[in-house]
Amino acid sequence: MATETFEFQVEARQLLQLMIHSVYSNKDVFLRELVSNASDALDKLRLAALREDGLDADTSDLHIEIELDQKARTLTVRDNGIGMSYDEVGKLIGTIANSGTAAFLQELKEAQDAAGAEGLIGQFGVGFYSGFMVADEMTLVTRRAGERSGTRWSSRGEGTYTLETVDDAPQGSAVTLHLKPADTDDQLHDYTSAWKIKEIVKRYSDFITWPIRLLPQEADGEDAPEPETLNSMKALWARSRDEVSDDEYHELYKHVSHDWRDPLETIRLQAEGTFEYQALLFLPAHAPHDLFTRDFRRGLQLYVKRVLIMDDCEALLPPHLRFVKGVVDAQDLSLNVSREILQQDRHIRMIQRRLTKKVLSSVKEMKANDADKYTAFWREFGAVLKEGLLGDADDRDALLAVASFASTHDEEAPTTLQQYVERMKDGQDDIYYMTGTSRQTIENSPHMEAFRDRGVEVLLLTDPVDEVWVDVVGEFEGKRLRSVAKGEIDLDVQDGEQTDDGREKQAETYAALLGWMKEHLGEEMKDVRLSTRLTVSPACVVSDAHDLTPALESMYRAMGQ
Ligand code: ADP
Ligand code: MG
Repeated sequence: MATETFEFQVEARQLLQLMIHSVYSNKDVFLRELVSNASDALDKLRLAALREDGLDADTSDLHIEIELDQKARTLTVRDNGIGMSYDEVGKLIGTIANSGTAAFLQELKEAQDAAGAEGLIGQFGVGFYSGFMVADEMTLVTRRAGERSGTRWSSRGEGTYTLETVDDAPQGSAVTLHLKPADTDDQLHDYTSAWKIKEIVKRYSDFITWPIRLLPQEADGEDAPEPETLNSMKALWARSRDEVSDDEYHELYKHVSHDWRDPLETIRLQAEGTFEYQALLFLPAHAPHDLFTRDFRRGLQLYVKRVLIMDDCEALLPPHLRFVKGVVDAQDLSLNVSREILQQDRHIRMIQRRLTKKVLSSVKEMKANDADKYTAFWREFGAVLKEGLLGDADDRDALLAVASFASTHDEEAPTTLQQYVERMKDGQDDIYYMTGTSRQTIENSPHMEAFRDRGVEVLLLTDPVDEVWVDVVGEFEGKRLRSVAKGEIDLDVQDGEQTDDGREKQAETYAALLGWMKEHLGEEMKDVRLSTRLTVSPACVVSDAHDLTPALESMYRAMGQ
């Protein structure tokens, strides 16, 4: 069949340009990415073989192979995993499906300097394409398990790629990099050197559960040496803590999350007894671009006795912890358990409760012991965690204990509800808050005047979800959560500045004016009242205690309700 030439999707082309001009300084990671893809492909094949009875695939010796050719200056990473069909190659390799891409590229355009671009690539991760950091041409030969013919993809990364059907491709994928000329004064970048490859694999891919073999170079003579397995294949979660370095944990995080940056926190958990399992959880350092979109892939990897049986197993964590990444390895589950069954499974629910508790207690510890880390965490994920306050979840108290909010008390430091309550003035019964789109708009609101004047602290809530949880939760330690923009609020009682007498007098004075206003505003207003909430502005519009606030209305609209 003829060779066809295709153009890369625009986004892919832009990314490739960055890779070719390699703004990313740590080029070694290209191998980690190719090995990670190969490992995923092997996992997928094993799963497919488990699920599909008739799958015509060879699963007898699943492994990853690296072959170096110093003369031709090529490096090949080969796997005998699931492979890709002709259409899949075009779809998966020719485009970038990640929904964060558009946002990423926008930021990239705005980042003028190389350092900015490097940071962005690190935060985005570019998997397969990272090969172009070290290669001026990449070739992929792949055959989907169960299919007869294979596909050859090739590109110089410059805007087009070619596809052709090939007959003699082995099952799985082989990615060959035609390496750029070596830096003469920098032996470190010679990716055809066996020791260099061993070092990289050991550093980044040791925990990969499939054997990574290095083929001997130039197997001349009768007794060619055997391929050497480079990785220990030991599951990190099964090793004792002091045996594993932070760096090793971080590499596992990068493999499961496809994030190129280190995680913020690593959480280990072992459960013994009738239902045994081990878990290794990670709190990412940064929220992914698509966290609030429908196609965000949530969930942990689920293993049964070291065998991956499900990616993105969402039953293991509640939706408000959907950003947590990691691995759970259970001893006593069936290998071909389905998603539907897992959702119902009693043991899985037990695990979910336990993991939830553990994550929240880790955040609490972080809050007590490492304020900077906690602040970073809450900035990235606070809005998601607060979604947990909307249900009747049993973790509400734990969530409220770690939640913090901007407040008029301090420009910089957010406060917890507990701290707010401790600062409450004598006679103040309620916790006051105001919602809005930003701290600035809230502070400029006339609703804030009286509170500012009287030194009454107000929480400044700017996440859309804030509108909802305050109503659902209703109170904290017996103190009502009250919006300064809703219903009648009487601050005078608290500082006793104005007597009942004085107020009656005022009411008399303005009775005529109020009556006139009510008459003229008629339809548009429910009521016109004298208020103590203003000090500078002459008037403000207040919603009824049970009305939707404007921000909430727009949030529901955005969700399509
Ligand atoms: P990611 O791994 O984050 O999805 P990559 O750019 O690394 O992104 O890979 C893109 C996609 O190409 C993968 O999701 C996978 O579907 C496919 N792919 C890449 N390498 C292989 C491989 N060795 N075998 C099968 N599929 C692969
Ligand atoms: Mg990848």
